Amino acid sequence: MIIGKYIAPQVNGELLTMREYDPTRTTTLRNVFARKMRVRFDELAKNITTALVEKDVLGLQNVTTQRVPGERAFDFPRSQDKVQAFMRWVREQMDTDILELRQMQRIGSSIDTAWTNVYVKNSYQRGLERARSEMRRAGYNIPTVKETGGVGQSLASPFHADRLGVLYTRTFNDLKGITDAMDSQMSRVLTEAIADGDGTRMIAKKLNGVIRAGGKDLGITDTLGRFIPGKRRAEMLARTEIIRAHHQATIQEYKNWKAQGVTVRAEWATAGDQRVCPDCASLENEVFTLEVIQNKIPLHPQCRCVALPIRNQDKAGGGWNQLPAVKSGELPRLRKSKFVKQ
Ligand SMILES: [Zn+2]
Repeated sequence: MIIGKYIAPQVNGELLTMREYDPTRTTTLRNVFARKMRVRFDELAKNITTALVEKDVLGLQNVTTQRVPGERAFDFPRSQDKVQAFMRWVREQMDTDILELRQMQRIGSSIDTAWTNVYVKNSYQRGLERARSEMRRAGYNIPTVKETGGVGQSLASPFHADRLGVLYTRTFNDLKGITDAMDSQMSRVLTEAIADGDGTRMIAKKLNGVIRAGGKDLGITDTLGRFIPGKRRAEMLARTEIIRAHHQATIQEYKNWKAQGVTVRAEWATAGDQRVCPDCASLENEVFTLEVIQNKIPLHPQCRCVALPIRNQDKAGGGWNQLPAVKSGELPRLRKSKFVKQ
């Protein structure tokens, strides 16, 4: 069956919906990375509630029960001091649990040890391997990754190593940007809540709103009136950076062969399903030089596009208008559910 230019893949004679075609084949990786993000933000939200409600760290409750250690820890006479002390603690929580800064400092190096690196690297590696096999498939006479010493060898080459380092830094700094934004939003919400005489439960709920949802109701929005909670932003970051790493790896790998006289041009390929945005859909099949397409994917948060080499012009035959996954026999797994969580 032909949908657009693609032949829809089949498994055991059963047609897969195009929804199930994942051009970068990183759906699982994206889901795992996003889940790891969510867990960290949920943990922060839970700790804040415990601190405020159970420990009454701000000393806002009329506590008659016996005190436990840590109770009323930030119960300073002035509200401003309460906010400062509490936010200092929140920042520590974010540094430890979301960014793992302490861990990084303990190891004594910087970005090279960020917990996010493992996902970025995994995707980059897949992109590199994919690029090589797609080039071969497109008719370029180049060796396999295995023939050039394996993927570790390729990753260690200066161009790939540099690019991967840039991606590590970018992902970590963007995550830091999210916690920094939450820091200032929570400070504001907390200050106002104390001034309004909110109870600890309400304050906990409002601070949780900054992390998870409901920021709009709290009056925290950007200049366009939008609010995206930190947890959601982090999840989008995870998904987007997986695609970025995959894309950067493919382009770098295509570029690396230029020294051997191999010049690649790349074709934009979307997932071809209903969730592809109009902007990406309009670029489908468009051919670019590597320099131009280098920083175009991801086009937007959670983009799933891939740049594939167009057929080697020096060689005849082969037609490129087939689903690469079909040609390689690497079919996407058939899912029971029609709904694929993205
Ligand atoms: Zn896209």
